[in-house]
Amino acid sequence: MQDWKTLFASRARRMTASEIRELLKLLDQPDMISFAGGIPDAGLFPAEAFETAYRELFANGQHLSALQYSVSEGYMPLRSWIVRHMGSLGVPCNEDNILITSGAQQALDYLGKLFITAGDRAIVGWPTYLGALQAFNAYEPAYEQLDLAGATEHAAPAKFIYTTADFANPSGQTLTLAERNALLDQAEARGMAVIEDAPYQALRYEGEALPSLLALDVARCGGIENARTIFCGSFSKTLSPGLRLGWICAPTPVIQQLVLTKQAADLNSATINQMVMTTVAERCFDAHVDMIRKVYKERRDAMLQALDRYMPAGVTWNRPEGGMFLWLELPSGADAGELLQSAIQSAKVAYVPGHAFFADGSGRNTLRLSFTACGPEKIEEGVRRLAKVFAKDFSLAA
Ligand code: PMP
Repeated sequence: MQDWKTLFASRARRMTASEIRELLKLLDQPDMISFAGGIPDAGLFPAEAFETAYRELFANGQHLSALQYSVSEGYMPLRSWIVRHMGSLGVPCNEDNILITSGAQQALDYLGKLFITAGDRAIVGWPTYLGALQAFNAYEPAYEQLDLAGATEHAAPAKFIYTTADFANPSGQTLTLAERNALLDQAEARGMAVIEDAPYQALRYEGEALPSLLALDVARCGGIENARTIFCGSFSKTLSPGLRLGWICAPTPVIQQLVLTKQAADLNSATINQMVMTTVAERCFDAHVDMIRKVYKERRDAMLQALDRYMPAGVTWNRPEGGMFLWLELPSGADAGELLQSAIQSAKVAYVPGHAFFADGSGRNTLRLSFTACGPEKIEEGVRRLAKVFAKDFSLAA
């Protein structure tokens, strides 16, 4: 039999199975309560609005262009909607600053392809979004840990800082205004780009919205063409991930190069989905986001309350102001990866162990809980079961 590994390129060695995806396969059992997948509640999708928009397109003859290839930059009315949306976030720009992508995930792959030559440095948080590490890994970077207080004088050259400023995956963390400015200062001092991954940006449940890194950057340097920040947006967490639509907002030279990247990769994101997304976004983006924010806030609060009520001493967690995730730390020495086996098998509750999100494989005592996929009663029951698994383990260790 052919030894395929001898034929695969060296970059394939760094493409490893995602712990999350492997895990999701185990969860299809009755009674399982999963806090693992970072996915929206399918029951909340604006299904009727999508159905109407697809039907209308066939009824009014637009289906001929909807079923056809289209330009790599993306469907112009969708780019125009995004220009208005970015304007409302404090980023004046025009359609030449927007590329439509098949989700933010494709944006990360393209940006890895565009910036990283094997061995180049990429700066990421510890922890960071696993899908970003997977996307970048294929281009063989060396990772450096983001340190906003770090000195920049003798630092080795690096290509970019990758970060999620609002409600990060997995930590739920939000950068303060001072941290945002420090990050931009560091990028400027070291001549790096900033990749701002912002899929959760609209899902704020409390507190004042802070300007995005791109908005701050544009205000500091006098316009998007002078900015060093590349903003990745997504419709996945607000309207639906199934249509696979996101966008990149960046200075035009970056967009022009990315258009060539997209031409080589998939020519264009699905035309029909771009047309339907435009209609749905125009008709109900704001109202829909208001509605899901209320529901997800209730779920976040239910999870926080249940953690307070049930978790044994020694477990700590944060209070994210938005997004989909809570981040837990177990006592040092505890291994959330090992505990997952008994959580799934005996307690029928699942989460994602934190170490997968660390580029150096540390963080064994951390884990991510998603609070968006089930209602408050299930959340309470799941946390109660999980707390029992942890309490048993800690009492054995004591
Ligand atoms: N970035 C982050 C931080 C995410 O959490 C996700 C989805 N889990 C993505 C990007 C990819 O989202 P999509 O491709 O669906 O837009």
